[in-house]
Amino acid sequence: MSILVYCDHFEGKFRKVSLEMLSEASRIAEKTGDEVHAVVIGPGSKALAEQTGKYGAKKAYYSEDAALENYSTEAYVDVVEKAIDDSEPKLFMIGHNPRGRDLAPRLAQKLELGMISDVTAIELEGDDFIFTKPIYAGKCLTKQKCLTEPAFISVRPNVLAVEEKDVGTPELVELKPEVSLDDIRALVKELVIQKSERPELTEADIIVSGGRGLGKPEGFQLIEELADVLGAAVGASRAAVDAGWKPHSFQVGQTGKVVSPTLYIACGISGAIQHLAGMGSSKYIVAINKDPEAPIFNVASYGIVGDLYKVIPVLIEELKKAKGE
Ligand SMILES: Cc1cc2nc3c(=O)[nH]c(=O)nc-3n(C[C@H](O)[C@H](O)[C@H](O)COP(=O)(O)OP(=O)(O)OC[C@H]3O[C@@H](n4cnc5c(N)ncnc54)[C@H](O)[C@@H]3O)c2cc1C
Repeated sequence: MSILVYCDHFEGKFRKVSLEMLSEASRIAEKTGDEVHAVVIGPGSKALAEQTGKYGAKKAYYSEDAALENYSTEAYVDVVEKAIDDSEPKLFMIGHNPRGRDLAPRLAQKLELGMISDVTAIELEGDDFIFTKPIYAGKCLTKQKCLTEPAFISVRPNVLAVEEKDVGTPELVELKPEVSLDDIRALVKELVIQKSERPELTEADIIVSGGRGLGKPEGFQLIEELADVLGAAVGASRAAVDAGWKPHSFQVGQTGKVVSPTLYIACGISGAIQHLAGMGSSKYIVAINKDPEAPIFNVASYGIVGDLYKVIPVLIEELKKAKGE
């Protein structure tokens, strides 16, 4: 049998979560003796499908059909369904990012499959897959099992390790969508891309976030300076976003983005449960806050009690020295 991975991509490159899932599928397949398959859809998908062999895929489905040029749930669901029919996976994985969050429930409903979303770890117990899923805004972790086959999950980005495992060029299988324009209820007409030199928030290895403690919008200049020294992405609490200091695309938390970087530096953020829901699975959390009782210190690996306007400049200076700048 197979483990099938939906590989999302953007501007000719795989989203990091796609490579994370392929790597995890390869690690599992080594234990179960299954084959790893990939499905890549949209413009440029043939060239990308060929690359999936570097991460263990033996077979890759692709479709560059004109109907897939702009994203629509109906056309994409149709092609992924065809890949599932042919691959007959025991496990199907899709990234828990905006594209995955749109596709997965529609697919699950169409195929009458149970689905577990936002999975952060996969274990094998005999022949069963056991999935770890955070609940109650990250306060608890549950272990869950899919009762339908294939087991169908969406995977949180940045929690699984990327590991190359070159098995050569995969067998390529072209798929054709069978949807007419009448079937499509909503179509992406235009994509407005916010260009940034910094890493994408959900894929970043280091994030520096600012909250209401910055006191003013200009405070983000200091956050950005620290982020640049570290090659980090910039995030914000909802209080900072609601104040209009940063757009909503920067918001980390329950009603913002869920991130899992190796290092999360929270500056002037109190650590409300809704903020923790978005960054609680970070590997190391550093909190800078002038209130020693701030709840963020309960989850922080390292805490600095002090005024961020005094602490961050020193941090920047020391980091520059350490880098020899
Ligand atoms: C349904 C719902 C959804 C929500 N979703 C989100 C979400 O997605 N993301 C999110 O972040 N919040 C969310 N919230 C809001 C959340 O409850 C908090 O209000 C918010 O996270 C607080 O932001 P903050 O920590 O920046 O501000 P505050 O809680 O006001 O904390 C500011 C902190 O800065 C410290 N500080 C002040 N000055 C300095 C200084 N000079 N130096 C160092 N420290 C200083 C203070 O001690 C304080 O701890 C949501 C709330 C609800 C009800």
